[in-house]
Amino acid sequence: MTDSNSTKSPMIYRQSGYAYRTANKSNGLYITDKENNHYLDMSGGAAVSSVGHDHPIVKERISDQLDSLTFAHTSFFTHPAQEELAGRITGLFDEPDAKVYFSSGGSEANETAMKLAWQYWQAKNQDNKKIVISREFSYHGNTLGTLGVSGNHARRKRSAMPLNDWPRIQPYYPLRFKHDNESDSEYAYRSANQLAIAIEQVGAENVAAFICEPVVGSSLGVVAAGHGYLQRIRAICDEYDILLICDEIMCGSGRTGTWFAHSQHHILPDIVTLAKSIGGGYQPLAATVTRAMVAAEFETSSFAHGHTYISHPLCCAAGCGVLDAIEVDNLLERNQQLGKTFLQRLKDTFEDHPNVAEVRGVGLFMAIELVSDKNTLAGFEIFGLENMIRELALQNGLICYPSEIVWEGKCVPHIMIAPPFIIEEAHMQECIEKLQLTIEAFVQSVSQ
Ligand code: PLP
Repeated sequence: MTDSNSTKSPMIYRQSGYAYRTANKSNGLYITDKENNHYLDMSGGAAVSSVGHDHPIVKERISDQLDSLTFAHTSFFTHPAQEELAGRITGLFDEPDAKVYFSSGGSEANETAMKLAWQYWQAKNQDNKKIVISREFSYHGNTLGTLGVSGNHARRKRSAMPLNDWPRIQPYYPLRFKHDNESDSEYAYRSANQLAIAIEQVGAENVAAFICEPVVGSSLGVVAAGHGYLQRIRAICDEYDILLICDEIMCGSGRTGTWFAHSQHHILPDIVTLAKSIGGGYQPLAATVTRAMVAAEFETSSFAHGHTYISHPLCCAAGCGVLDAIEVDNLLERNQQLGKTFLQRLKDTFEDHPNVAEVRGVGLFMAIELVSDKNTLAGFEIFGLENMIRELALQNGLICYPSEIVWEGKCVPHIMIAPPFIIEEAHMQECIEKLQLTIEAFVQSVSQ
C-alpha cells in the first residue's frame, strides 16, 4: 500500500520513518497515488480544498493569469488580480471601507494581523500596548510570533527559541468546561469573562489585542463559539480598548456556510485572517482583512511589513477563481444545507458509539471526538493516536484530519471532516462507511 521509497528520500518529512504514499493525480474529491489507489478527500487536506481538486473555473483563471502577468513585485506595481480580489473580499465584510493585505499562508496572515495591531497602537502613541491575549488549545501558526500566541503545547515544546508566553484563557469548550448547573448562556458569559480577568491582571494599557478562532479547527476539533460568547468578547474588547482579531484561517472563506464565520455571531472583529479555503489548494494565498478604523491609521504612515511573494498574481488569480466557483454554483448556500444533513448522518451513525464523546460541527466543518470512557470522557493512555488514525483511514481509502489534545494526562483524539463544498450525497455515504471501518480498526488497535 505505502510507497517505501520515501524513507530513502533526501526530503525532510513531517513524520520521520513513515513511508509516505506518492500522490500522483487529483480530481474532484479524490487523490490517486502511484499505485492507483484512490483516496476520498473528506478533509480537503487540512480544510484547504474548498472547491475540489480540479475545478475548471479556477484552473482557467490561473492559466489566463500565466498568459498575462506572472510576477510583479509589490514594491513597484499593483496589478488587476490583486485589485479585483481585494475589492471582492472586502466587499464581503460586514462594514464598508475595509482593507486587505494578501500573503501566502495562515501564519503570515496572523503575523500580519499582530503587526497591524501593534502599529495601530504605535500610531495612537500607545506603544506599550503589545500583549496579544489568546486561548489554550489554540493554533495560530508556526512562525515564532504566531506560535508564541498559540496554546498548542505539543507544538510550542518543539520550538528551540523562547516564545512569548502572554496570557492564554480557557477556550469556549462546553463538553469539558461547562458546569452541570450552568445554562448555555451562563457558561458563554463566564467563559468570555475570563478575558476581562486576564486583561485586568496585565493592565489594559499593555494589551494590544485578543485573538481567537470563532470555530476552533484542528486544535480542538471543530468547537464553535456558543451563542453570546463572541458578543461578550467583543464588548470586553471595547470596554478595555483592545483589538479583536478573529483567526478564520480554517473556519473562514465559506467553510461554515457564510463567507466569514464571525458573521453568524453578529459581531464585527477589528481584524480577520483567512487562508486555506480562499486559495483552495491551487495556490498559497492568505488575507488579513481590517476594518476601516484600523486601516485609517496607515493612511499617513505606511504599514511597515512585507514579504517577497505577497499578492502574487497567480495566487490572487486563484483566489478570484475560487470566489467565481463558489458564486457560480451557489456553494455557500449548498454548504449550509449539506452541512446540516451530513452532521445529522454522522450523529446518527456515531453518537451512540461507546468511544465517541461528541459529534459536532457547523456547515461543512465537523468532528468526532474519541474517548476511552464515554461516561467520564477520559482519554487514552497512548499518545500519537492522530498518526494511527490517519494511517488507518488512508488504508481504508479515506483522507480525514485527525488531531489530539492532552486532557488530564491522557490523549483525546478527534477526527475532523472538512470536505470540498462540491460534495455530493454519495461521497457522504462513502465517507461514513470508511469512517466506520477506521474507527473500528482504531478501537481494536488501542484495546490490544
Ligand atoms: N490558524 C489556524 C486556525 C490554523 O488552523 C492554521 C493552520 O492549520 C494556521 C493559523 C497556520 O496556517 P499555515 O499553516 O497556512 O501557516
